[in-house]
Amino acid sequence: MAQLDQMLYANRTFAEGFDRGDLPMPPARSVAVLACMDARLHPEKFLGLEIGDAHVIRNAGGRASDDAIRSLIISSRLLGTREFVVVHHTDCGMLTFSNDDLRGKLAADTGGDASGIDFLPFSDLEQSVRDDVALIKASPFIDPDITVTGFVYDVKTGKLNAV
Ligand SMILES: [Zn+2]
Repeated sequence: MAQLDQMLYANRTFAEGFDRGDLPMPPARSVAVLACMDARLHPEKFLGLEIGDAHVIRNAGGRASDDAIRSLIISSRLLGTREFVVVHHTDCGMLTFSNDDLRGKLAADTGGDASGIDFLPFSDLEQSVRDDVALIKASPFIDPDITVTGFVYDVKTGKLNAV
């Protein structure tokens, strides 16, 4: 509970100074970011985004999973975003295992069968960005006029490199 207590303490301080309660729901910058959940990535900071500016969708790998695309459809069709940015990164954990590896571990740890789950690992970082940009663009529910750009974030330098 120590971590939770610390976070709740931080939230009390945050809320005491909070003055952005009147922001509209649609992102002010009309941008959606799809990024890996890696703890070393802080998309709002490395992209200069303030509260209310953008949708930031995160999952393991920053993959264009069905659920990420679900969020992007809602982001653009209902909340007006017009530009998507996909961010994968160096030293990603998704480079370190295969579906079979994780399924085997889960079977050993739990006895359960995870053969129906694609964990979306990848072995080629830049290709994974290209694949996800292409998947998003291929959705019939994403407006083809939306700009979709892919990047690799370097966890050593903090720099984004276009793919
Ligand atoms: Zn990652």
